[in-house]
Amino acid sequence: MQKTAGQTAVPFLDLGPAHAPLKEAVLEEIAELLDSGAFTNGPAVARFEDAFAAYCGVDHCVGVASGLDALRLGLLAIGLEPGDEVVVPAATFVATLEAVTQAGGVPVVADVSESDYCLDAAAAAAAAGSRTRVLMPVHLYGQMADMRALAPLAEQRGLAVFEDACQAHGAQRDGLRAGSAGEAAAFSFYPGKNLGAAGDAGGFVTSDGDAASRVRALREHGQTAKYVHAHEGWTARLDTIQALVLSHKLPLLDGWNDERRVAAAFYEDGLDGVGDLRLPPVGAGSPVWHLYVVRTADPAALALFLRERGIGTGRHYPEPVHLTDAYAHLGYRRGDFPVAEALSSECLSLPIFPGIAEAQLAAVVDGVRSYFDG
Ligand SMILES: *Cc1c(COP(=O)(O)O)cnc(C)c1O
Repeated sequence: MQKTAGQTAVPFLDLGPAHAPLKEAVLEEIAELLDSGAFTNGPAVARFEDAFAAYCGVDHCVGVASGLDALRLGLLAIGLEPGDEVVVPAATFVATLEAVTQAGGVPVVADVSESDYCLDAAAAAAAAGSRTRVLMPVHLYGQMADMRALAPLAEQRGLAVFEDACQAHGAQRDGLRAGSAGEAAAFSFYPGKNLGAAGDAGGFVTSDGDAASRVRALREHGQTAKYVHAHEGWTARLDTIQALVLSHKLPLLDGWNDERRVAAAFYEDGLDGVGDLRLPPVGAGSPVWHLYVVRTADPAALALFLRERGIGTGRHYPEPVHLTDAYAHLGYRRGDFPVAEALSSECLSLPIFPGIAEAQLAAVVDGVRSYFDG
């Protein structure tokens, strides 16, 4: 990160302010763990699982090794059979599709809505066919998908709704909470997520006890009891050190999400009506601003301009999933999902994280305004 004299450097993401007050307590617990030797599926893992299930308002959380594992094992646990179709949005991180294919399913892509950048209910209805078993909305950038609009489709066609809540810890909409708005949900605790570990981690949440038991078995070699292997499984447990870190961070999550809301409001005040900039749709409910994504005709030029002023940015995501080489075999073409494609070519993510200073937010607003004012 370059810093020019007299200007405030703003990294795209800085986890330092959030972690500083936790460090001592976490290190102490890691020392205790080394003494206790309860390295896998011990009490620390159960303690976090219980707390996170309660936070989401569901009966069960099964800790796993990543968000992808939560999605992938979760799909198997809710009964996905080889060749079953899963409707996924065109605007998402690639892991949403990886989970479907790795669970033996077929991703069927549908466009997102301009009003929230999440799976559009009409597009999902058009995409769903006779082999479709699951709708997998993604709560993109921390904004919940319109779960109420998807519910009638799920009901009429007998589809399960499995939330990809990897960007939406704590988000709410229409009285529903991310993680408890469908049959099941998957969270990632990748360090940069709203609730992040000190490494990779994930959680599968549900109130369906059978599905929870199946993920519990699948994360550990398909074991239903010691050396009883009902199915083939994996090594995909939640790491104990990550569970300790997450237990310390969970009580702070709502406060951190509020700080993200304050930052988003600052950007909205400072950037509304500037140049050709389109601010994020404030869809509905209470988004948790995992990312603050603006749109402009040439995001790379704006990114470069900001970088020269010491301001970091990101692109989420520069290529829509259906146009990546990895999913070329699905046979989609440019033009198939115009809303997601336009979002990809125009998106730029501005810095947002708990503890971002007002001077940093002001520097971003100044930088963006200068770019457009010339
Ligand atoms: C981060 C993320 C994932 C995957 O999480 P990992 O922990 O990196 O495996 C899945 N879906 C979405 C939408 C994500 O943002």
